[in-house]
Amino acid sequence: IGASLLVIRAVIMGPPGSGKGTVSGRITKTFGLKHISSGDILRANINAQTELGLLMKSCIDQGQLVPDDVISRLILNDLRAIDGRSWLLDGFPRTVSQAEALDDVYTLDTVINLNVPFQTIKQRLTSRWTHLPSGRVYNTDFNPPKVPGFDDDTGEPLFQRDDDRPETVTRRLKSYETQTEPVLEYYRSKGVLETFSGTETNKIWPHVEVFLQRKLSSINQKVE
Ligand code: ATP
Ligand code: MG
Repeated sequence: IGASLLVIRAVIMGPPGSGKGTVSGRITKTFGLKHISSGDILRANINAQTELGLLMKSCIDQGQLVPDDVISRLILNDLRAIDGRSWLLDGFPRTVSQAEALDDVYTLDTVINLNVPFQTIKQRLTSRWTHLPSGRVYNTDFNPPKVPGFDDDTGEPLFQRDDDRPETVTRRLKSYETQTEPVLEYYRSKGVLETFSGTETNKIWPHVEVFLQRKLSSINQKVE
């Protein structure tokens, strides 16, 4: 029995604009987990104009959640396709019903919760720019691209997401409060919730990194 059996199943949570995308990128790069982002998957469906994408577009543009059964089926399907690999879920589950659907199939090792004040978030979302094909995000305030308006890796143009407009941001934060905060309670009661608080991603990240290093080595020891 060796390190190849080491599998970690993790979820990252936090309000929209809490730095989930950035921290997820660092986690997957550092620890080799597969990144599964519900928002990226939905946007890819919209871009490719799939039937599902077309159905979900108005929901997403208005800052509303897509139906639980639709997103749960989509994500669980993707997870089945990478069975046996380590993964990090980002943007799913967003409701207790989604968390239960996931729980029916997989046991989570950890849930990383980014706790960032709402005031900080509102300011951030409206200055956020996204490279749509990859999901890479920049912020004109604290994480600008090397060339303004263009992606560092590909040189392609960046866009401001329709759902990052101020009215929509308020609606997304509201839905986070009413629908997603109960998921934090759900995981807290299961003893897998790990909360990291702060206002800057670069200050939160080292704590997440150390935590996951410890977590991985403790799982490693159990395997060996
Ligand atoms: P951020 O990526 O900064 O955390 P966000 O969480 O608001 O922002 P995404 O995760 O990219 O945005 O999701 C965009 C939209 O896709 C959501 O506003 C919602 O309409 C839909 N969506 C994504 N994941 C789910 C989910 N698990 N359940 C229901 N709807 C979802
Ligand atoms: Mg996201």
